[in-house]
Amino acid sequence: MSITDLTSMAETQLGSKKEINERLLKIIDEVADSCYQCAKCTSGCEAHKLLELEPHKIVALLKRGLIDEMVNSDIIWTCMSCFKCRERCPQNVSPVDILFTLKNLAVANGQQVPGAYTAWLQSIMTMGLLQDVQEVPLGDGKVLKREDLGLPELSKPMDAAMFQMAFAGVAMEKM
Ligand code: SF4
Ligand code: SF4
Repeated sequence: MSITDLTSMAETQLGSKKEINERLLKIIDEVADSCYQCAKCTSGCEAHKLLELEPHKIVALLKRGLIDEMVNSDIIWTCMSCFKCRERCPQNVSPVDILFTLKNLAVANGQQVPGAYTAWLQSIMTMGLLQDVQEVPLGDGKVLKREDLGLPELSKPMDAAMFQMAFAGVAMEKM
C-alpha cells in the first residue's frame, strides 16, 4: 500500500464539501452560546507553546463565520491533535474537532496537504515511527545516541503488512 492509496482512502471518508460545510454550521450553532473566550484551551495547547495556534481564536473566528480565512491558512495544520483543548474546556467546546473539520474542508477544496504531513504518514507506514531515531549533537562536535543517554531501543512493528492494514483502518475513520 502506498501513501497515495492511504490518503485517497481517507479522502473518500471525508464527505462532500456540502456535508462538511453543514457540519461546520452545526458546530457554529453549538459553540455560539457556549464559548466565552476564557482561553483555557489555548493555555494548555501544545501547538501554542511552539507555534502560533490559539484554539480560542479559532473558535472566535468560526463564530464570526471566517471559515475561508482559516481553511486557507497554514495555522490549522499546526494542531498536534493532543485533545488537551477538548479536555480543558469548561463549556464542552472542542476546538480540536473544529480543526479536524477545517482540515477536511481544505482537503475537499483540493488544497495541498503540507508535505510534513505526508512525510509523517510515510514514515509511520514504513517504520511505525513518526520520524527515524534521532541523535543529539553536542556543541563540541560529539553526537549522543539513545544508548549513550540510557534510553532503550525503540521497537518497530514486527509484522509490517499487518501494521499497514491496521493503519489503513484508522485512515478510514471519520474525523
Ligand atoms: S473553547 Fe472552551 S476553553 Fe476555549 S475559550 Fe471557549 S470556553 Fe474557553
Ligand atoms: S488538539 Fe490541537 S488545538 Fe487542541 S490543544 Fe492540542 S494542539 Fe492545541
